[in-house]
Amino acid sequence: MRFVHETLPQRVRLASGEATAAVAEEVTLLGATRVMVIASEREAGLAESVTTGLPVALTYDDVVMHVPVEVADRARAAADAAEADVIVTVGGGSTTGLGKAVALTTGLPIVAVPTTYAGSEATDVWGLTEGAVKTTGVDRRVLPRAVVYDATLMTGLPVDLSVASGLNALAHCVDSLWAPRTDPINAALAAEGARALRIGLPHVVADPHSIEGREQTIHGAYLAAVAFASAGSGLHHKICHVLGGRYDLPHAQTHAAVLPHVLALNVPNAPEADARLAAAFGTPTALAGLEQLRATVGAPRALRDHGFREDQVADAVAAVLPVVPPSNPTPVTTENLTALLRAVWEGADPA
Ligand code: NAD
Repeated sequence: MRFVHETLPQRVRLASGEATAAVAEEVTLLGATRVMVIASEREAGLAESVTTGLPVALTYDDVVMHVPVEVADRARAAADAAEADVIVTVGGGSTTGLGKAVALTTGLPIVAVPTTYAGSEATDVWGLTEGAVKTTGVDRRVLPRAVVYDATLMTGLPVDLSVASGLNALAHCVDSLWAPRTDPINAALAAEGARALRIGLPHVVADPHSIEGREQTIHGAYLAAVAFASAGSGLHHKICHVLGGRYDLPHAQTHAAVLPHVLALNVPNAPEADARLAAAFGTPTALAGLEQLRATVGAPRALRDHGFREDQVADAVAAVLPVVPPSNPTPVTTENLTALLRAVWEGADPA
């Protein structure tokens, strides 16, 4: 074994029912006295309860998916005007993403309180969109100093969004196994993440108010994000990045629909990843396990249901081909990528 693995420094708390006290402790530990709270309108109620008693200087709700640059600029100006010294984000990946955009230029520390399974809180990756082009980068300033998970904040996340978001997390596990910086540490985190998500997600679907199901899913989603942050973007993320940025498709649903097709393409040349995932799922093969899970939770299948058009397939193929990671186990060609994206478009059987 020979590898270089970087572990990101961050405090992580799982405090179901106790986010308010946990966030207050984290803000105090940072010595902050002027809090900028970022939460979209939909999560305003959750944010209010979580930030009760904090020295709030500004509450900010102009959150837009994929963080357009003008949205980021307005939020940075608002942070400056309010003389904020810490950012508390309460919401999904879009909300965490706006906090990161502010931290990128101001250096303000972030305390993240996630309400989906997107996992942005555990990475030092930022994303900004200008026109139809999404740019991402890596900067240690955007890594939240602390993450406070509270399963009670997720019991209201609708089941369809929970499923799509949970499969977005599972995609972090799967892609980590062949991403450019994959290593045995990432693989261990990814396998345990996949196991926890396989148990947690059906539990969430059966009983969205179950704290146990939500906590299992949080556990899996966090491990998935840590593995992804270290391993980098594999073929799956490159495809989803192009689809999301170019055609404005919803992030989590896109990941959920693409994942089985990338897995089917790669497993014939990735026996170790196949075996690890199969063991995590408790099925003979990784694909059988993913298909079983997708059927159980009613996963999104056809991307045409979410805005992707058949006449965009060729354009998407041309945009993905130049960014295919050289580490991908199966060589990617115009032919197999076209077949893959057509199958994603129509929701065909990945096998
Ligand atoms: P999102 O944050 O846009 O949330 C999706 C929807 O769910 C929104 O309408 C939101 O208001 C709602 N919602 C969130 N939590 C809720 C709750 N508890 N109850 C009810 N409704 C709730 O979507 P997302 O999938 O979480 O995040 C997607 C964004 O995150 C994308 O821009 C993606 O690029 C980014 N992302 C970044 C990273 C990274 O490492 N930088 C990782 C993953 C995702």
